[in-house]
Amino acid sequence: AKEVRLASRPEGTPTLDNFAVAEVEVPKPGAGQILVRNTWLSVDPYMRGRMSSARSYVAPFEVGKVMDGGAIGEVVESNADGVAVGDVVLHGLGWRTHAVLDPSRVRVLDPEAAPVQAHLSVLGMPGLTAYAGLFDVAGMREGDTVFVSGAAGAVGSIVGQLARLRGAGRVIGSAGSAEKVRWLRDDLGFDVAFNYKDGPVRDQLREAAPDGVDVYFDNVGGDHLEAAISALNVHGRIAVCGMISQYNATEPAPAPRNLAQIIAKRFTMRGFLVGDHEHLRQEFLDEVGPLVRDGGIAYTETVVRGIERAPHAFLDLLSGGNTGKMLVRL
Ligand code: NDP
Repeated sequence: AKEVRLASRPEGTPTLDNFAVAEVEVPKPGAGQILVRNTWLSVDPYMRGRMSSARSYVAPFEVGKVMDGGAIGEVVESNADGVAVGDVVLHGLGWRTHAVLDPSRVRVLDPEAAPVQAHLSVLGMPGLTAYAGLFDVAGMREGDTVFVSGAAGAVGSIVGQLARLRGAGRVIGSAGSAEKVRWLRDDLGFDVAFNYKDGPVRDQLREAAPDGVDVYFDNVGGDHLEAAISALNVHGRIAVCGMISQYNATEPAPAPRNLAQIIAKRFTMRGFLVGDHEHLRQEFLDEVGPLVRDGGIAYTETVVRGIERAPHAFLDLLSGGNTGKMLVRL
């Protein structure tokens, strides 16, 4: 068995040296426990925060210890009632090939209903984040002009499509390459998409939203947030999901400089954590599950193979190497 450990805490942008892949014994399940052989590992932006020592809403990873995160695997040994050998389960002990778990810590998946890895993306945490942020936090209404940054990522690509399906007047997305912009426009039905590396976000957004923005779903922060504030209409709403442009920063962010507009525009800006929106999971699955099955919502994955390459997958995620959800296939 193998596991990925945090070798050292990064200063700024992480490097491969911050990780170590170690050979370990296959763990033994105790009474009432199961052994899972992982088949899919999730790498997610929030893990960057856990590599630092600062306390946040999830505890930091410990130096020298195995990391964890979302994963899917197959039960290969079971001493538990209700979970059988061969079951496919979703759980939280990723970054390793084998995991011992109590059955209360896993969710058994139905491999017939959808490709299992969709439970790490469109039908899982990123999908619920998109749903909760757009509808519950930002209160998107029919006719709204919606702008989402990080639009070609796991969360952003679902935000834009949900907005379109619920009758947004205009859906605008930004992403970091021409290929991603093409995907947003041609395959996901965004009305406008732009590459934020092509010029100032403020100018590109103003052109994309001549009548202003009603809802901004922020995945990026910094210049994107500043541009969105400037483009926001009176009583606009900002759901702050993430600020990935700052996760590797060693200095405080210079933007947004225009926050005072919150007064005259009377806009709302609300941060949120998906974990507080568990009550929406069933409603989300009832609405999005059928759309995923019949192709009404498109999703894609960028798949990296092998546990040794999990750190590469994570570094690539931070630098935009993914379209849709970044996953590691074991
Ligand atoms: P993504 O699949 O969107 O991957 C991250 C993407 O961020 C990259 O592909 C890259 O795309 C983009 N990016 C990286 N650096 C920058 C930068 N400096 N400026 C602009 N874009 C950048 O990840 P997720 O969908 O999993 O997460 C998206 C956001 O949502 C993150 O901020 C994450 O922290 C947050 N999140 C928050 C949750 C919550 O509960 N609040 C839950 C889940 C996610 P590109 O090529 O376009 O630059």
